[in-house]
Amino acid sequence: MTCLRAQSLITPFINDKLNMKELEEFIDHISSCSECKEELEVYFALLTAMKQLDEDKNLSDNYSMELSDKLEKAEDKIIHQKLTFFKKCGALIMIIITVTIFSNIVYKKYDLIEDKAVVTNSTFKLRYNYFESRYRYNKMGEELEKYLEWEAKNTK
Ligand SMILES: [Zn+2]
Repeated sequence: MTCLRAQSLITPFINDKLNMKELEEFIDHISSCSECKEELEVYFALLTAMKQLDEDKNLSDNYSMELSDKLEKAEDKIIHQKLTFFKKCGALIMIIITVTIFSNIVYKKYDLIEDKAVVTNSTFKLRYNYFESRYRYNKMGEELEKYLEWEAKNTK
């Protein structure tokens, strides 16, 4: 951020009108540029005094203290915002990992079910064939017995 830009943000900063990105860049600049910091101090004292007069409040006796309070609060706000952002990112990553793992499990399970289904099906078919052939065999056996009985009767 240039000094010109920083100085144009002094009034919005004092009036709490900066967005997070602007606030962060502004604080960064102020903490590394003594010229702009001085400018901010002057404007802060001036604007705060005007505001206090306007609202019929007592004038502060220590504007630089109030300003450092305000700067500290702004930094806290930025840190809090960043933490929230990282927490959200972390939560998002956790959700993605969970979904990936879960879908893998479901996919594997589905695979297993499919495998099992194939095995069950073929076992069933085998069994079915087995029963069918045994039934057929029994039927032939019965017919044979009947025939033998009939033959025995007729040959007597
Ligand atoms: Zn500067």
